[in-house]
Amino acid sequence: MKVLRELWNNRSDPKGRIDITFFFGNLFLLFCHIFLMVIYILIGHMCMICINIVSILIYLTQFYSCFRNPKRYSSITFFEIWFHMIFAILSFGWTPSFQNWTFALIAAYFLPAYSFDHEKKSSLQSFIFTFIIIITYFVLSVLIHVVNIPIAVSLNNIMKRLLFTANNLFAFTSITMFAIFYTNSSRRKEYELTRKADYDELTDLYNRYAIIQISKRIVNADSTRKKYNAAIIDIDFFKKVNDTYGHNSGDIILKEIASILKNHNKDLIPARWGGEEFVILSTTDVSYSDFKKLIESLRIKISKHKFKIENKNEINITVSIGTTKVQKNQVLNDAIKEADKNLYKAKKAGRNKVIS
Ligand code: GH3
Ligand code: MG
Ligand code: MG
Repeated sequence: MKVLRELWNNRSDPKGRIDITFFFGNLFLLFCHIFLMVIYILIGHMCMICINIVSILIYLTQFYSCFRNPKRYSSITFFEIWFHMIFAILSFGWTPSFQNWTFALIAAYFLPAYSFDHEKKSSLQSFIFTFIIIITYFVLSVLIHVVNIPIAVSLNNIMKRLLFTANNLFAFTSITMFAIFYTNSSRRKEYELTRKADYDELTDLYNRYAIIQISKRIVNADSTRKKYNAAIIDIDFFKKVNDTYGHNSGDIILKEIASILKNHNKDLIPARWGGEEFVILSTTDVSYSDFKKLIESLRIKISKHKFKIENKNEINITVSIGTTKVQKNQVLNDAIKEADKNLYKAKKAGRNKVIS
């Protein structure tokens, strides 16, 4: 249960200790081989029993090693399936469909080769494996017809059908399984990448790029109103805070200010503009005078907040803010330059102020 919980918790963490694809892929293959073992024992085919013991040992050790080195989906799986398949085809012919395990190989090797979560497997490796399989099919076809194979046995109809069904089921299940893992991991990665592109890593606020896009959307969403509002916030004497309490404490303060900005009012959209500067936009629904009131109350809230930093210190921080109305045809960068002039005035006037 603990292992499963850890797997689940780490499923979106590419650096997770256990790789979910590896874990379940290996578990599934182990299960398949235990099933085949029962059949080989029923048939009484010593050669296949021995090969299958080796296969099971391989999966058991791989299972163990996936806890130590989760990133390694080793080529042993490929050679195990390949070797097992060759001997099974030589023993029982083509009818029980052992050749369908090739599909499992394709799923296990081609999909992760292009998946984000796995170490990059070169396409060359996949092509070499494909080439090996094609050659194997060719050699086996010739061998079975030309040479009298000593391990060959003829199966009764029940065993033929049983193996045929099991091999097809196993092969197609593994394709589906790997495809699901692959799709999920790609989707997850895509989500992470888009999140990374839009959000600031430290504060989890929108970054500068994202807020510029949002400003365009605000304008496009409402063509009747002419203006929306913007403010730029700069922390007062932040360099001194960093110098006195350390950079980590500075980061804690940035995060805490971000969380205050996020929770202040639902009509305000905060973003980290850069360094210790934040930008806040409001939609066209908010009048400039209401916006100024909201920003003023935000300044007061921050100045009264006790920031818990490293070594159990609690300090007060103030911010200076410049606001502006953004004209519909004005790009955000230009509007922020206007707000910046007011911010400069706020700093000049002694800080901890909003200037409009
Ligand atoms: P002022 O009141 O005039 O704004 O003074 P200030 O010291 O805040 O102004 P200044 O722009 O000179 O300093 C900003 C400081 O913000 C400098 C830099 O060390 C700090 N800073 C910028 N980004 C980060 C960050 O991500 N983490 C931390 N801890 N500090 C940062
Ligand atoms: Mg600054
Ligand atoms: Mg500052």
